[in-house]
Amino acid sequence: MKEKKLKLTPQRLAVYQYLKSTNEHPSAETIYKALQPNYPTMSLATVYKTLKTLVEIGLVQEINIGEGNFRYDGNCSEHGHIQCINCGKVDDLCDMDFSPLNKMVEENTNYKVKWNKLFFYGLCKDCQ
Ligand SMILES: [Zn+2]
Ligand SMILES: [Zn+2]
Repeated sequence: MKEKKLKLTPQRLAVYQYLKSTNEHPSAETIYKALQPNYPTMSLATVYKTLKTLVEIGLVQEINIGEGNFRYDGNCSEHGHIQCINCGKVDDLCDMDFSPLNKMVEENTNYKVKWNKLFFYGLCKDCQ
């Protein structure tokens, strides 16, 4: 934040710390509800604005889960995601190397691939 000349407001810190503490990939509404007890004056609009700032400076990853819905991730390393089509939960795909896909795309297009964002859909253990 200091690097980007941004004020480290209590709200920004709270949203960031919440995202760092979970791997549930919460929506803005979920973050808002979770922070309500400790930050009763923080509005949903503030949460949205704070998330936008955190995404812009690269501290938080925004995941588009389709139909205009977004989830947020405090883990900014390159990793894939899988979503349950029944309950909507989103899990990380860690320790899986999807970089061979970049090569495959390069071989079939005239692009130089910089990164990929992979999203898989399925049924989680509880929903199967
Ligand atoms: Zn599920
Ligand atoms: Zn993730």
